[in-house]
Amino acid sequence: MKIALQLSQLTKYYGSHQAVNNLSLQIAEGSFYALLGPNGAGKTTTLRMIAGLLRPDNGDIMILGHSIQRSPQKAKQLLAYLPEEPLLYNKLRPIEYLEFIAGLWGIPPSKAQSSAEELLKQLNLWDNRGDFSETFSRGMRQKLALAGALIHQPRIIILDEPLTGLDAAAAHLVKNMLTEYVNQGGVVILTTHIMEIAERMAQRIGIINHGYLVAEGTLDELRTQSGEAEGSLERVFLELTQDNNVEGTR
Ligand code: ATP
Repeated sequence: MKIALQLSQLTKYYGSHQAVNNLSLQIAEGSFYALLGPNGAGKTTTLRMIAGLLRPDNGDIMILGHSIQRSPQKAKQLLAYLPEEPLLYNKLRPIEYLEFIAGLWGIPPSKAQSSAEELLKQLNLWDNRGDFSETFSRGMRQKLALAGALIHQPRIIILDEPLTGLDAAAAHLVKNMLTEYVNQGGVVILTTHIMEIAERMAQRIGIINHGYLVAEGTLDELRTQSGEAEGSLERVFLELTQDNNVEGTR
């Protein structure tokens, strides 16, 4: 197993509040990883540190062998981060937006155009290619932002609640794209409150509670850790995030 992402003893404070506590984790290449946790558990904070948008107070993050703190440019080239509320430019059309993002990554215009067209077709946005993104629904905006995240062909994609607000067809499309991306060797790390996504799609799952990684492993391993041998992920999750269980893998 080749490690794509290694988090070592990550810690983050907001003032005196410790949002992430000594969190260590390894994620393999070509895998789908779900990070679960109750509201306020520290998931977004963890993802933003991995993406290099927030500096940890302690600990290190290695992206395919490159430290996000010591070699940020190399590390960031290898990943994409899709926040829960992505920022688009209202007065750009989808192709213009994607070509703009591609330009930031230094992708030559001819390559950018063909990649942008392919992504818009894959994500069912081709018919809207002439519309300003200010006219887009929430789901369309999510899909366009996903296309923007994939345009530079990252090896790791980090997604914060990517399926919120998508209708069934769009969610199906995005899930298929992510599965295909993983099948081709990419790494998906996502947070979700939809247990079924983690249950069906993730090879491994990490559960965070009050900033601590309280459990980590395959669904079967989590079942064992929670004592819910036959339980659904929802049962396992509820058991592991009861408020008397913040010790975990501390
Ligand atoms: P949710 O599921 O609700 O999105 P989360 O697991 O992503 O939650 P975070 O957003 O990482 O949780 O927040 C972790 C903790 O840090 C929470 O207690 C939150 O209130 C606090 N926090 C997050 N961002 C900030 C900030 N910019 N300043 C101060 N406190 C913050």
